[in-house]
Amino acid sequence: MYKSILVPIDLAHPEVGQAMIKRAVLLSDDNAKITLLHVIGDIPAYVESYLPEGQLQKGLAETKATLKALADAIDVKADIVVRYGSPSPVILDEADERDIDLIIIASHHPGIKDYLIGSTASRVVRHADCSVLINR
Ligand code: ADP
Repeated sequence: MYKSILVPIDLAHPEVGQAMIKRAVLLSDDNAKITLLHVIGDIPAYVESYLPEGQLQKGLAETKATLKALADAIDVKADIVVRYGSPSPVILDEADERDIDLIIIASHHPGIKDYLIGSTASRVVRHADCSVLINR
């Protein structure tokens, strides 16, 4: 059993995220911490300069609310984290910083059956210092 579980969620596929949160609960120690993480792709500076004021903050708040709603819908208490960047390095950094002992990650986008494992998931498995569970 684990005391600090990181669940990276691609919000394009929320149903996959919810299945992983349920699995995190099953693998949790008493008083374990579950952290849900979504990584938003970096926005180029020239695009950012054209956005209406407050747009980025609004997007960040909406993304956090979406992650929280996923956990609330199945009555799970979780820390909510949203970061900008490229998914796999951000997931690995967050795992180190938060002293994570298990990462639960989906194997690939649903429907892409030809691949054994997706690009983000494979990078995380190769480079993580903690255990990684590939959710299928
Ligand atoms: P594919 O290569 O088929 O697109 P990925 O390896 O990118 O598959 O995605 C598999 C899993 O990696 C997702 O279900 C999720 O757990 C994690 N993941 C991918 N992108 C993100 C993201 N932007 N933020 C958080 N987690 C992500």
